[in-house]
Amino acid sequence: MNESGQKAETAIWNEGWIQVKVPLPFSLKWVNSYVIPEPDASGFTIIDPGLRTEDAIAAWNEVFSRHQLEASRIKRIILTHQHPDHYGLAGYFQQLSGAPVYLSRRSHAYAVRLWGEHSHYADELLSQFEEHGMPEELRSSIAGNLALFKGRVSPQPQITYIEAGETIAFGGYDWKLINAPGHAYGQLLYYEESNGWLFCGDQVLPRITPNISVVPGEEEDPLGDFLANLDELLQYEVKLAFPGHRDPFDSFSNRIEELKGHHIRRLEKMKGLLEQPMSAFTVCEALFGASLRSNPHNLRFAMSETLAHLFYLERRGDASRKRDEARVWLYSSISC
Ligand SMILES: [Zn+2]
Ligand SMILES: [Zn+2]
Repeated sequence: MNESGQKAETAIWNEGWIQVKVPLPFSLKWVNSYVIPEPDASGFTIIDPGLRTEDAIAAWNEVFSRHQLEASRIKRIILTHQHPDHYGLAGYFQQLSGAPVYLSRRSHAYAVRLWGEHSHYADELLSQFEEHGMPEELRSSIAGNLALFKGRVSPQPQITYIEAGETIAFGGYDWKLINAPGHAYGQLLYYEESNGWLFCGDQVLPRITPNISVVPGEEEDPLGDFLANLDELLQYEVKLAFPGHRDPFDSFSNRIEELKGHHIRRLEKMKGLLEQPMSAFTVCEALFGASLRSNPHNLRFAMSETLAHLFYLERRGDASRKRDEARVWLYSSISC
């Protein structure tokens, strides 16, 4: 039992793979971790172990005892990407097992930038939000929320680098590593061609739309990169996709088309809003509602996602921006 009194929820897939719904203290509720046993019973692989919280560790303890798993038999820990809900427990399991933790170089650089010793990431993010119109009291609640995360990703793992184009063997199969930028630069998906299985991280999620955020100091067109990658992913025949959130699903290419449609509709709506010049923060509240003011975690995602759409429109000549007298950027749509 974890602190909230709920049993750790699991489901079994394919050849004894365990989907573990690792609890999260967010509205997202859980992140999927997958335990993939080796066919010769020599041990197992853990994909994306989850965020480090007491509830998550209690859930894992219960799963280990229910399925007779031992930490000493963890052969490897594989991460799809660096977001704390996936990466946070990697160092914890590495300490227990001595297993290698695999992640791309690009994803690891981001983790170091966010949670390394000399991180200025929070200051950079908050000054970006300031120049896009977010009021001071909301920025400080976001700063307080960000400060919680370092403990949720500690200890940080030693990383063994893997890159797109390579293959990695686990669970009795060879998995091709596919680059999947936009949601997280450096994200890798794991594809097994003969069965059409894909561990798709947070790039394609059923029922919820992956967050696409502008991250200060990174590429400025994450939505463009995300949409281009969705088109690339259509070339893979996927029979069963194992996502980072919600449940495994079989309608992979349909889901890609739905996600593309979602963003196209949102861009159109924003162009309509921008007939009046307004800041990114005003656009964010028009799209997501002012109730987010009481939820700094969700507000940060909503604001960064709004910026991703505004940057997309600006780069394609559909919107422009200029500063107002308080030096806040105001966006306007450009009609043909
Ligand atoms: Zn993510
Ligand atoms: Zn996630």
